[in-house]
Amino acid sequence: MNATGMSLFNVGQASIARIEETYKPVYKPGDLFPEWSNDILAKHRHWLAPNHYDEASGLIYLSVQSWLLQIGKKKILIDCCCGNNKSRPTRPFWNMLNTPYLDRLAAAGARPDEIDFVMCTHLHHDHVGWNTQLKDGRWVPTFPNARYVFSKPDFDYYHKLDSEPGAEPVEFGTFRECVLPIVDAGRADLVTGPHRLNDHLEIIPAPGHSAGHVVFKLESAGQHAMFIGDVFHHLLQVYYPHWNFPKNSDAEQARVSRRMILEQCASSGALVFPGHVGAPFAGRIEATGTGFVPRF
Ligand SMILES: [Zn+2]
Repeated sequence: MNATGMSLFNVGQASIARIEETYKPVYKPGDLFPEWSNDILAKHRHWLAPNHYDEASGLIYLSVQSWLLQIGKKKILIDCCCGNNKSRPTRPFWNMLNTPYLDRLAAAGARPDEIDFVMCTHLHHDHVGWNTQLKDGRWVPTFPNARYVFSKPDFDYYHKLDSEPGAEPVEFGTFRECVLPIVDAGRADLVTGPHRLNDHLEIIPAPGHSAGHVVFKLESAGQHAMFIGDVFHHLLQVYYPHWNFPKNSDAEQARVSRRMILEQCASSGALVFPGHVGAPFAGRIEATGTGFVPRF
């Protein structure tokens, strides 16, 4: 963490900054993970509190964050949080947010017009929010010069659901607010993985949390990083890879993807950047022979 409280990481020639939107205790652990118990709490309490579990409220922390990756002359924004002014009547923690996210991004070294790529691990509402912003009553691209990289299987899945006759807008309306305006503006690249984006970045399918969820693999000067989105939401799932987040499109596929990505992270020694894990927000995965432990 630097003097301004921003978390900064280096991987080879790349620098990576965490751009926070929110970081709060929000979920009852038993609501997320039916396997949660007092025994689990006793066993893991020494590292859970205070960054991953709030003793006072008994709630689990969830961070909502983007990663600003700078490599060579490129500025790449990975996952786009919830965004301001987005209506989520059933999600009070993320309803009509008004955060200084763009100021934080600027402090980390990128104005909106400087972003070259926006890359979404998947198209859930908390990963596409800042794709667009409200200007004169219309949702327009926040990053006017960026190419936006979306998973085609995710796009196809939501496009079909959203365009069925009489369909309610999917993902709290964020498909129409944060994804379609990008496609309509001609700024989207819909990719089907595996796909190599450039010398440093590769897109790897890791479906299950959503139909087309992908992860981004970075290699620079022999060092590795993995931007894993929602392959796991909490470090407890590194100890217990069969624990699923309730909102998974395919629970069994999510387990298979989680184990595959944990294996890859452990064997490559990659620095792992998840979408929602608490401080210190990034770390490594160690294989123990029988399973995995987080080294965050
Ligand atoms: Zn998420």
